Amino acid sequence: MKYIWLLIVVCVVILILVFKALGTRKSSGNVVKFQRKNSKQGLQKCTYCKKMSKLTFYASDEGSVIGVCKECKPKAESRDMLPI
Ligand SMILES: [Zn+2]
Repeated sequence: MKYIWLLIVVCVVILILVFKALGTRKSSGNVVKFQRKNSKQGLQKCTYCKKMSKLTFYASDEGSVIGVCKECKPKAESRDMLPI
């Protein structure tokens, strides 16, 4: 009977270690995802609606560069802006 208790204690310790390992792996995965979302997917604020989106860039008449989302693209094109 002594050994059964020992086994239970060992199992509980192993379970705690496994959950800890899974927990740290999960949180570090989230950090990587978060960074990718911010920098690597190229999401930027639309010049017109200020929504975070994948932008198409146009050169305006004044020579400045504006970025527009899908929904605002017709607005930029109606102003005869040149896509970059
Ligand atoms: Zn927009």
